[in-house]
Amino acid sequence: MFSYRHAFHAGNHADVLKHTILIATLKHLVQKEQALMVIDTHAGAGAYRFDDRFAQTSGEADEGFLKLAGGVNAAARARMAPLLQDYLDLVDNFNPSDTYLQYPGSPLILYHLLKERERNRLKLFELHPSDAKHLAVNVSGLHAGRQIEVFREDGFEGLKRFLPPPSKRALVLTDPSYEIKTDYNKVAAAISDALKRFATGTYLVWYPLIARHEAHDLPRKLRALSTKAGKGWLNASLTIKSVSRPSLNEGEHERRPGLTASGMFVINPPYTLQAGLQLALPQLVKLLGQDRAANYTLDSAGV
Ligand code: SAM
Repeated sequence: MFSYRHAFHAGNHADVLKHTILIATLKHLVQKEQALMVIDTHAGAGAYRFDDRFAQTSGEADEGFLKLAGGVNAAARARMAPLLQDYLDLVDNFNPSDTYLQYPGSPLILYHLLKERERNRLKLFELHPSDAKHLAVNVSGLHAGRQIEVFREDGFEGLKRFLPPPSKRALVLTDPSYEIKTDYNKVAAAISDALKRFATGTYLVWYPLIARHEAHDLPRKLRALSTKAGKGWLNASLTIKSVSRPSLNEGEHERRPGLTASGMFVINPPYTLQAGLQLALPQLVKLLGQDRAANYTLDSAGV
C-alpha cells in the first residue's frame, strides 16, 4: 500500500509552483458565467497544519510557502508579481490570525475559487485510506452540498466518467505522488485518453524533476500529446537548489537535499498564464533559491 503522505510536503516549493499556477488558471476560468467541472484526480487530505508532526519533521514548508510569505514585508509584497500575490492572498484566507497555521491543499484551493457559482462542480479522488478520511472530514466542514463529491477511488480511472462534462468546460488537476514508477506512464495514458474524450479541457499535470528517465520523459510525452491533439501547452519548472550535497564542516550533520525541482505542464492554458509566469518565476527563484543551481524554465507553444 502507499506510504506517501502529502502532510510531510504541504507548502514546499513544489506546492508553491503547483498552487500558484493552479490558482492563476482557475481564476481565469471562473470569470465566465457557464458552469465549470473541476476534477482533482489525486486530491490528498485537503488541508494541512504547519505545526503538526509531519510538517515539523520535514521542515519542507520552511523552504517553500513559509519562506515566501515570511521573507517579505507588506511593501515588498505589494511589489510582488500578481500571481504570487494571488497565491499568498488565497492562503491568507485560511489563516485569520497573524501566524500561519494552516495550508490549504488543492481541494480547498479549488473550492475557494469555484464556490461562488452554484453550478460549478468539484470531483475529488483520493486512494490513501487515512488521507481519504481526512479529506472527507475537511470537505464536510465546507458544507458544499452538491458542489463537491469525494471518491475513494483510483483517480486515473475515475476521470474517464466525467469527460466530456455536461457544461463542456473542465479543469483537470493530476498530481500523483509518483511513488510507484508506473505513475509516469499512467499520467501520459490518462491525459491521452482525456484529450480524446474532451480535447478543449484545461489539463494541469505536476511532475518531479528527479534523476529518473521517466520523470524527464513525461513532459516530452505531454508535449507530443498536446501537439498531436492540436492544442496549445505551457511547461514551467522551478529548481530551488542543487542536487549534490554541499561539503560539510566539522560537526555539521548531513541533510538530504530532498526534492530540489519540479514542473507543471498545462494543456490549453489561459492566454494570460505565460505573461503572468514570466514575472512570477524569476521572483520565486530569487526568494526561494538556495544556491547557484536555482533556476526556472518556461516554454510554450500554440498559446
Ligand atoms: N493534489 C494535492 C494538493 O495539491 O494538495 C496533493 C496530492 S499528493 C501529491 C498525491 C495524492 O495522491 C496522495 O495523497 C496519494 O495518497 C494519492 N494517490 C496515489 N495514487 C492515487 C490514485 N491512483 N488515485 C487517487 N489518489 C491517489
